[in-house]
Amino acid sequence: MTSWILALDGPAGAGKSTTAKHLALRLGGLAVDTGALYRAVTLAALRMNLPITCNEALSRLARSLQLRQTMTAEGDVRTLMNGEDVSEAIRSPEVDRWVSQVSACPGVRRAMVELQRSLARQGVPVVILEGRDIGTVVFPDAQLKVFLTALPAERARRRLQDLQKRGIQATLTDVLEELRRRDLLDSSREDSPLTVPHDAVVLDTTDLTLDEQVDGILLLMKERGWKG
Ligand code: C5P
Repeated sequence: MTSWILALDGPAGAGKSTTAKHLALRLGGLAVDTGALYRAVTLAALRMNLPITCNEALSRLARSLQLRQTMTAEGDVRTLMNGEDVSEAIRSPEVDRWVSQVSACPGVRRAMVELQRSLARQGVPVVILEGRDIGTVVFPDAQLKVFLTALPAERARRRLQDLQKRGIQATLTDVLEELRRRDLLDSSREDSPLTVPHDAVVLDTTDLTLDEQVDGILLLMKERGWKG
């Protein structure tokens, strides 16, 4: 079965994961969190004390890792690295600090793009992939491309809430600075920078509730022929 592909791109904290999770649950689809894969490569490099510079060692590491994702009954995406569930470990401030340098490396990106395409090939009716380059590079022919965005202060507020739920202390100013730093690196890199795909629908979630976001995307899917 060829799956219907929904490409959900946008900067950190725009609401991609929560939206993907709820859409997957509503539609009986599969959510793929591509940022988590770059995070897993970063975690592996940090654990091995590999210098975070773009070289063959880093690309080889990305190719050698066995990365898988599964979805829980609640719709949460879990990431497995060589059989270990690293879903919590990849959200550490240390990984946040380095992931954009790792993801800027073309050899790492090549390995991850290939992996993402294979993760999406599971014969489910709809696959929702969230990331930065899904609509531009991974699935340029996706049936629907949505670019989620929100004002930086709102994105930082959401990210801080996430961190606090996980017991990590941070201030709003630190989180905002970290988001801005990562946005800048992600949108200024040479290989597959974060940009709005020319044929994407831009959805600003600053003042939207989760239900409004999900309903809005479902409506767009129907307009593009989704019959589920
Ligand atoms: O989505 P998340 O914030 O977890 O992504 C972590 C990082 O992974 C991003 O800041 C970006 O550097 C990288 N990324 C990417 N391409 C994707 C998804 C994430 O470069 N498709």
